[in-house]
Amino acid sequence: MSHKNYVIGFPRIGEQRELKKVLEKYWAKETDFAEVKKVASELKARHWHYQKEAGIGFIASNDFSLYDNMLDTAVMLGAIPERFKGLQNEELYFAMARGNKDAVAMEMTKWFNTNYHYIVPELHPNDSYALDAGKVINDYKEAQAQGVTTKINLIGPLTFLGLSKRTDRGDTYELFGKILPLYEQLIKEIGTLDEEVFVQIDEPIFVKDIEPKHLSLIKPCYDALCNASDNVKIIVSTYFEHAVEATAVLVHTPVWGIGLDFLYGEKNFESLEAIAHSGKKLIAGVLDGRNIWKNDIDATVALLEKIAQVVNTSNIIVSTSSSLLHTPFTLKYEEKMDAEVKNWLSYAVEKLDELSLISKCFFGESLSEAETAALASNRAANKSRRNSVRIHDKAVQERTATISKWEREGVYEERINIQHDALKYQPLATTTIGSFPQTPKVRKARRDFKQGIIDEAAYVKAMRDYIDECVAFQEACGLEILVHGEPERNDMVEYFGEQLKGYGFSQNGWVQSYGSRCVKPPFIYGDISRPKPMTVEWITYAQSKTDKIMKGMLTGPVTILNWSFVRDDLPRSEVSKQIALAICDEVNDLQHAGIKIIQVDEAAFKEGYPLRNANIPEYENWAVRDFKLAVSSARKETQIHTHMCYSEFNDIIRTIEAMDADVISIETARSGNELLKIFAEVGYKQEVGPGVYDIHSPRIPSVEEIVAQIHKLLEVLPKEQLWINPDCGLKTRKWEEVKPSLENMVKAVQIVREELGA
Ligand code: GLN
Ligand code: ZN
Repeated sequence: MSHKNYVIGFPRIGEQRELKKVLEKYWAKETDFAEVKKVASELKARHWHYQKEAGIGFIASNDFSLYDNMLDTAVMLGAIPERFKGLQNEELYFAMARGNKDAVAMEMTKWFNTNYHYIVPELHPNDSYALDAGKVINDYKEAQAQGVTTKINLIGPLTFLGLSKRTDRGDTYELFGKILPLYEQLIKEIGTLDEEVFVQIDEPIFVKDIEPKHLSLIKPCYDALCNASDNVKIIVSTYFEHAVEATAVLVHTPVWGIGLDFLYGEKNFESLEAIAHSGKKLIAGVLDGRNIWKNDIDATVALLEKIAQVVNTSNIIVSTSSSLLHTPFTLKYEEKMDAEVKNWLSYAVEKLDELSLISKCFFGESLSEAETAALASNRAANKSRRNSVRIHDKAVQERTATISKWEREGVYEERINIQHDALKYQPLATTTIGSFPQTPKVRKARRDFKQGIIDEAAYVKAMRDYIDECVAFQEACGLEILVHGEPERNDMVEYFGEQLKGYGFSQNGWVQSYGSRCVKPPFIYGDISRPKPMTVEWITYAQSKTDKIMKGMLTGPVTILNWSFVRDDLPRSEVSKQIALAICDEVNDLQHAGIKIIQVDEAAFKEGYPLRNANIPEYENWAVRDFKLAVSSARKETQIHTHMCYSEFNDIIRTIEAMDADVISIETARSGNELLKIFAEVGYKQEVGPGVYDIHSPRIPSVEEIVAQIHKLLEVLPKEQLWINPDCGLKTRKWEEVKPSLENMVKAVQIVREELGA
């Protein structure tokens, strides 16, 4: 194997989502597990060959998983929660991932700042763990049988512990002494596979702010692992941010190489001296593993040359910045994409060729005729992207450079009085978060219209009929502030992306989100503008059907940004500003059309938070700025709502307040009022709608339950400050669930109002 270039990991869902399809068939009992294993083997073999053909030196095994690598690691260590005891093999594995009739699934959460979700291992000090290295060993052998010698990917012990939870709420790192010996045993077993085996140990936890007591575990951990076998060469891999603290320790351990991300962790440059001194290999993450843009090969080679001013070239290995798991597979199936735009893109398979070319250029190897041509076309594509009028819109740039009004007029205290006079809603006003169930009929109408099976008139009629139903239900139910139900939206980001200039869409740009689930984020390639109003017709139609207040529904700039692939030739804060201006125009058009309340959802505001505390102020600064900019056109009497899909506000409550929305609805239904205490403790001024029931479950909450929940809310916030609503949009629920739930919610409010004598 040539030791010059390196792929941290490869996506596994399959370029036509083969793994997704076979898993879902298996779960539906339409096929057996042998079929799943067969597809998995085919995919692994295909992915190894892609990498081999591209000339990649370090190719991973064990980056594949039937569900998730953290789950695989828990199973490997025998960290099986009590409720799954008695199950075995695939039955056990999928029960842990998805639950079964007797046991709820394990928790799932976001992998660092990506949209990939891992299964959170559950640990307890009384557990006894035992190693099962079967999957790790078999994957290596499987690759070998395909003629590919791989490095073995493992999730590191410190990251495993850092991301797990203790069911007794203790510190997971206390279990270090139990877990480490199993990893040592694993390294020993791996050492018997060959005279030389490379093992990549992923420790992305090192890129977060690290506590001294955890930092102190790094040396004993890696001393022990490196000493476990003479045949194994260990590479510690980090990504998504810098890892300077951990690197300073790792250089004093016997690890063979250290992987650093130079794209999302600029500060890693500060570690170069120490690495150079140590004589260790540097796995230099320079090819973006998290976006879809064609690499600028000249720029990347220049970056490597900068690194080579400190670290000896012979010790540099050219790598992806992270696993390619976070990019789609291949451009091969993008048949409908505009040719100019497509020429700017590169998915995982295309990135392999780029990586190979970069390392050849950097190491000064001679290029074949095809490679010379590829380099020329890479230069041309980058030049076209730099200069294209599709990307650079003078009018947008001028407007963003000369913004004079960054926020709305009037302070909150003044606005809210004007709004109460104008809107006349009672304390504990009832509303919903925006969407109503997306029925098969609604989905079909949207699909048929997209495919040209029905014309626009038929489509508009179908949507309007649905809006009529939503309005009629809400009126009958007694809800006070109504919504139109969002039938025209497939997705809260895609819907806006499709109408904004500067946005692109793929046919097959699927990225794994969790288990068999994938998302297909739209991508921002150019300056963003809004050719025409995006929601006004639907909302004004809905308003025309009722005398009650119809709430307009928009997605905020930060969420649109966080759920898209974003151009890499402009700071995110600039892109966000452009989106904010487009939303600002929409807010203005809505209020001119007579809409009195407008909700600007920021569902993904929190997930955009940087991994390092040092970077948080900067993010908060522009994220808050752009939310305020997006609603800066709202008159004092226009009430601005926002919605956020999470409940952990404690550390960001001042930031939320600074966004200055008049009303915020949040998810708290599952946590009682514990999390809400913060509002009372720190004194929060704006109005709040803490979700009173959990929409993520099909369960229908009883009137009594909701009354009890409202009582709890009243313990922390006065009724004048409270709104009553479910905790998120209802699009994934069925009408049979939604109707009685909302009826109960309205009844509960009536009861509480009577109690309060209101
Ligand atoms: N308005 C959106 C809806 O109701 C909000 C969705 C969300 O918060 N994820 O569907
Ligand atoms: Zn939500």
